[in-house]
Amino acid sequence: MLNEDDLNRYSRQVIIPNFDEEGQEKLLKTKCLIVGAGGLGCPVALYACAAGFGHIEIYDQDVVEISNLNRQIAHKNNDVGNNKAENLVLECLKINPNISISFKKKNFEETEDVSNFDLIFDCSDNPETIYTLNYLSHKYKKILISGSAVQMEGQLAIWKSGLNLDYPCYECIFPKTNEKAPITNCREAGIIGPVTGLIGSMQVNEAIKEIALKDYKSSAGVLFLYDGLTQSLDKIKLVKNYQCPVCSD
Ligand SMILES: [Zn+2]
Repeated sequence: MLNEDDLNRYSRQVIIPNFDEEGQEKLLKTKCLIVGAGGLGCPVALYACAAGFGHIEIYDQDVVEISNLNRQIAHKNNDVGNNKAENLVLECLKINPNISISFKKKNFEETEDVSNFDLIFDCSDNPETIYTLNYLSHKYKKILISGSAVQMEGQLAIWKSGLNLDYPCYECIFPKTNEKAPITNCREAGIIGPVTGLIGSMQVNEAIKEIALKDYKSSAGVLFLYDGLTQSLDKIKLVKNYQCPVCSD
């Protein structure tokens, strides 16, 4: 049962028929892992916390730099030099002190235990991290919501191969390769702040659908490609690779 503060705080989403009090109760019970407290991690954590995802843990070992501030919207000028994960938690608590939220001042490693989480948000800008999160999400049957953004383009996808073997995993679509990858990190290629804001918001929107909505069509198995230059959003239907080393066993 929602208490009076919750009913008031979440009233604008609870009145949506597909959402209802039941949906809010589900959000409050959900345990989210957010990997990365930067351009995507900031909007993801702020919106997840505001929506009332009840348990959130954020990983990031980096400190805030002044060059982060064009997009990493939770971090302020005075925060330069502070750990990003800790700072993001402090900002989230200003929005919603009623949830349980914690941080780890470290990068996410394969040895971390994800078995307790329901939802994993990949907000890292590190290709190795997404492969690790994909592997663990499949193994422990978690929902993985990945986002990425570079220059004026962004990508978003929901991966549920561990929960439904017909869905592809990340590695089905983006197999590991020894070839040198094109430069896709913000430091070298550049990034426009609103694009990370948009992709991060969309990650939480999908999370709310997955957890709280009664009648909805999951977006798992679709890759969303956003182009900020032309304002277009393309949806690509993804096909599972039945030889994938991660999800076809
Ligand atoms: Zn796969």
